Amino acid sequence: MVNRRPTRITAILADYEGVVGPAIETLPVISNLVRNLNGYVSNVSGVPPEEVATHIKMLLKKHNTDTTSYALVMEYGVSVSEFSETVYGPELPAIRNAIGRDVELHGLMRSARVPIAVLSNNAEAYVRTASDAQGVTPLFVQFLCQESIHPYSKPNVGAYSTALGITKFTQDSHTVFLDDKPLNLVAPKELGLTTVYIGERAVQAGFVESIDFTFPTFKDFLRQLRRQDETTVMLT
Ligand SMILES: [Mg+2]
Repeated sequence: MVNRRPTRITAILADYEGVVGPAIETLPVISNLVRNLNGYVSNVSGVPPEEVATHIKMLLKKHNTDTTSYALVMEYGVSVSEFSETVYGPELPAIRNAIGRDVELHGLMRSARVPIAVLSNNAEAYVRTASDAQGVTPLFVQFLCQESIHPYSKPNVGAYSTALGITKFTQDSHTVFLDDKPLNLVAPKELGLTTVYIGERAVQAGFVESIDFTFPTFKDFLRQLRRQDETTVMLT
């Protein structure tokens, strides 16, 4: 990748869904989540159920976000906790069952030797339930989910600044931010963080400059860190 340079890593800020945990679309409960979401949006907006999908698309564009709950908070003043309880709440046991314990991930996260925090646009109940199921919740120093970063959400720079303020991670290249969406790497790169794209798909030309490193998976990134010298954690 371009922009590649040796960097001593002292903190890791990671997106959750698609980086640490599975993509929500791959979980068997996705159809129930979509049903709950459509019902909730229809209820809040007054838009008939058959028009909800189009309505959500419009709201995401209007509020420059990929996160429906954030768009609903901004548009209708709903609370993230109400959204979370209605949409995710009934499915949390099924989500827990669908995600298996990941002993390898646990070992790799432990071996990172630097604090790791989550920065997610998702609701905290979902993120914690999924990471509990993976067995890695105690390995995060903090969960910064939509509730904590409100009134911002990625890709808005305010989301990252808020996260740095809460975690006290340094605003420089020693803090790594990882996401599976290239758009979410633009603001942290401008803030001076080291950015890592997690994924195997080709990145659109416009985002290449925002990416310092690319790894297929979070585990690959952690393996690279583990291969480094005991005292100096570097990405090279
Ligand atoms: Mg993601």
